Formats: sequence, structure tokens, C-alpha cells
Amino acid sequence: MTTLVWFRTDLRVHDNPALWHAAQRKDDVLGVVFVSEKQWRRHGLGPRKIQLIKNRMYALADELKALNIPLLIVNAPTFAECNLSLQRACVQMNISRVNFNIEYEVNERHRDIEFARWCRENQIEVNKFHDQCLLPPGSVVTQQGGPFRVFTPFKKAWLQQANVVMQPPLPAPAKRNAADARTLETLARVQSQMLKQGPLPEQEDDPLWSVAEADAHDKLECFISERALDYKDDRDHPLREGTSRLSFELSLGILSQRQCLHAAQQENKGFLAGGFPGIDCWISELIWREFYRHLLVAFPDLCKHKAFKPETEAVPWRHDEDDFLAWCEGRTGYPIVDAAMRQLVQQGWMHNRLRMITAMFLTKHLLIDWRKGEAFFNHWLVDADLASNNGGWQWSASTGADGAPYFRIFNPTSQSEKFDASAEFIAQMVPELAVLAPKDRHAPDNLQRARCRYPLPVVNHQYGRARALEAFKLSQAQTLTEGDA
Ligand SMILES: Cc1cc2nc3c(=O)[nH]c(=O)nc-3n(C[C@H](O)[C@H](O)[C@H](O)COP(=O)(O)OP(=O)(O)OC[C@H]3O[C@@H](n4cnc5c(N)ncnc54)[C@H](O)[C@@H]3O)c2cc1C
Repeated sequence: MTTLVWFRTDLRVHDNPALWHAAQRKDDVLGVVFVSEKQWRRHGLGPRKIQLIKNRMYALADELKALNIPLLIVNAPTFAECNLSLQRACVQMNISRVNFNIEYEVNERHRDIEFARWCRENQIEVNKFHDQCLLPPGSVVTQQGGPFRVFTPFKKAWLQQANVVMQPPLPAPAKRNAADARTLETLARVQSQMLKQGPLPEQEDDPLWSVAEADAHDKLECFISERALDYKDDRDHPLREGTSRLSFELSLGILSQRQCLHAAQQENKGFLAGGFPGIDCWISELIWREFYRHLLVAFPDLCKHKAFKPETEAVPWRHDEDDFLAWCEGRTGYPIVDAAMRQLVQQGWMHNRLRMITAMFLTKHLLIDWRKGEAFFNHWLVDADLASNNGGWQWSASTGADGAPYFRIFNPTSQSEKFDASAEFIAQMVPELAVLAPKDRHAPDNLQRARCRYPLPVVNHQYGRARALEAFKLSQAQTLTEGDA
């Protein structure tokens, strides 16, 4: 008997419930993973992230091989083709059981429902596990039994439940019999030829983002032991190494939410809250991650580009391609915004404070639809993740659950002076301004801009702010009137 473990955004051997439970049986265990480039591109992922996913698949194959578990890497451009390939593999290899960890996005759930239906018809057992959240979506609810729409009460309820169910992460499965693995591997090789998968993609290392699971563990350990205590003070300053930068590993599942929470709890006197302020604060961010996943399941329209607050669909967004391009290319004339946008494109990552500043700048100062910014981030971020990206964008645009109230509009210059006080981050990412004195880099005057060949602001702060306030106020009034009618 063979159990197939279908890997997706859980590309790890440790604390992987689908893999662990498969390995607890006497059956043979075979892993499978699909390279679905067409589907990923349809979902808006960019080439850097796609390459990293593929790199991670190869690394996973090596890590599983060390445990004598073969991994079949199959080209299947779309989810529909994944299902067909999987069905063929199940029949040809006489698979009795398929294990996988659940993905919560709408297309992924439809894919899984289809596959599970086919398995039922063909007497193949399907075992699904939750691994993306400590508490599965739908399990943290209000007293009325509905989903929470705001973070703070969600967090309170989450902490109460999490304290009860928190368990240490699962280890990697034990090494399996080498002879069985060889037979299985031969079968798998034949199988992959039969699946006519075509040439597999190339591996191409990324200088900034390692995909090794061992490196992810080191990174987590290093953050927890060296920086987590100072997280609360350091996390808002882009130049300080104040945050963990583990969002990439979490987004591919190289690390699990449970591993992060558990490591933090161990260092936090055994508490998820009420330990050290720095670690409490970091745990709180992980709860935000979980909150957004719970929202995605409770409100699946979020996967379909809908605003969480329907009344904000009436905001008269501007369709100004020049302004949008200036934002994308880091030439808005606001140094902190431009520095952040250049960091995104160069590193595939952006600091959280800067994500809020740039997202608010696009949606408020430029009054451009948050969906355009969300798509741009999704394309460039190596940690691109529908739930967190959508949550962050809708928070910033004041269209989301627990979003910033629409009248809260960051002033990019004062944010810059506060969080990049030495203007060193600006100097690094916008080198043409490095010649200026640090205090002048936040908002150079016209002469300095000309000297540095740096653009004038695309919009005046006061004007942009007033225009956004007016647009939001009008859209609210309009919705109220329509509601009355
Ligand atoms: C407009 C916008 C877009 C965003 N897009 C994404 C995205 O596509 N993918 C993504 O993982 N995060 C996204 N975030 C959330 C956050 O900015 C990143 O998770 C964080 O900057 C990653 O850096 P870190 O790993 O050093 O985080 P740390 O500060 O070390 O936090 C630890 C972990 O907690 C989670 N986390 C932290 N802050 C948040 C948050 N506000 N919301 C949800 N989870 C959080 C992340 O998984 C992160 O790795 C977005 C935020 C905004 C405002």
C-alpha cells in the first residue's frame, strides 16, 4: 500500500502534519508536488517568487531523499491539470491514500473538492490537515458563532483557545527503509515519464533568499535568541534588523506558524502573552497573520477582489497611469516612498512600516485603487500571500476589516523623520540623495532636487490628503443616500 503526500504551500519535512501522519503507517510514502506556472502567473505571482518556489521544491526533494522518501516533481501548468495528473498517478501506482494540508484560497479549495470527489468515487482515502494556522479558520468565533471582524477581540479569543491547544511542533518523520524507497523511486521515475511532464524547470539560486529548511530554522532561532526581546522597539525602523524577515519562509511553508509560535513561547517564559513585551508583540503579529486567514475563509469574496467594507466600493478611484507608474518605479518625489518601492523591486521584500506608508500613499495621496497596489506587491514580493497582502492593503486603504479609519492618513515626510531618523535607509535605496545632509533627505527643496536629479513630488501632501478625505466622505454620503432610497 502506498500513501501519496501532496505538497503545496507546506514545503517542509518538519512539523508537516500530512507527511507526519503518512509516515506513521506501515505503507510506503511517496511525495508529489506540482509546478503550476501558468496558474501561479494567473494568480499574479512574479518570476522571482516562481523561481523560489521551484528552488524550494528541489531542496525539499533532497531533504526527503535523506529520509528515503522520494518526491515526484510534476509539471502541471494549471490546477485542472494537477488534478488530472494526480488521478492518473493514483490509478497507475495503485495509491490507496492521499494526504495533504489544506489551502484556503477559493481556487485551491475548488481544486481540492474536485479531487476529493474523484477519490471518493475511486475508493481512495483522502486525509486533510490544517497547518497554516495554529487554530483552524472557523474555530475562533464570536459569542454569536460568527467570524470576528476586528482584530483585538479576535486576538483575545484566539489567545484563550491557543493556550489550551498549543503543542510542540511535529518532528521530521523517521528515516524509512532504503530498499522500499528505491523500488518506489523506480516506480515514480517510470510514472513521471508516463505523466509526460516535459522538461523540469531549472534551479537558479537567489542571492538573497535561501530555500534550505535548515537555514530557515537557523534564522528563526537567531531571531528569537538575539532580537525578539527588542522587537517592540526596533520593528518600525527599516534600517534596524528589528524584524525576523521570516515572511518568505512562512509563505512557502518552509517554516510553520506553529514552529514560530512555539519558539517564541519557549523564550517568553512559556507564555503566548504576558511574557516579555518584545516577544508578546512578535506573537501578536503572527496572530494578525492568522486573523487574515480566518477572514479569507469566512469572507471568500476577499479572494475575488472585493472590498471588505462594501460601502467603500463607491470611492471614486483615480485612473492615472502616470502617477501609478511613478509609484511603481520609485519616483514619486517622496524619498521614503521611493526608497521603499525600490527596496521591493530589488530585494523582493519590504519592511512592514514601509508597506503601510507606500500603500497609504497610493490609496490616499494618489487616490489610486488599492487593488492595483495589491497586484503590484503580489508580483514583486517573495512573501506574496493572498490573505496577508489583501489584509494589509485593505487595512491601509481603509476598506478592510479593522482598517485604519479613512481620516488617518500618514504624512510620508513625518513618517520618514520618525522611522528613518538618520535618513540612512533613504541614502541606501535612493543613492542620488545620499550627497545631501541627512536632515535634508526627507523632503529636499527644489534646488536640491534639481542638483540630485530627483523628481518633484507627484502630489502636494496637503492637497492629496484633502482630496482623499473628500472622496471618502462623498462615497460614504452616497452609500448612505442609496441605502435610504
Ligand atoms: C500593504 C501590505 C501588504 C502586505 N503584504 C504581505 C504579504 O504579501 N505577505 C506577508 O507575509 N505579509 C504581508 N504584509 C504583512 C507584513 O508587512 C509582513 O508580513 C512583514 O513585513 C514581513 O516581515 P517579517 O517577516 O520581518 O515580519 P515580522 O515583523 O518578523 O513578523 C513575523 C511574522 O508575522 C507575520 N506578520 C507580521 N506582520 C503582519 C501583518 N501586518 N499582517 C499579517 N501578517 C503579519 C508575518 O508572517 C511575519 O513573517 C503586508 C502588509 C501591508 C501593510
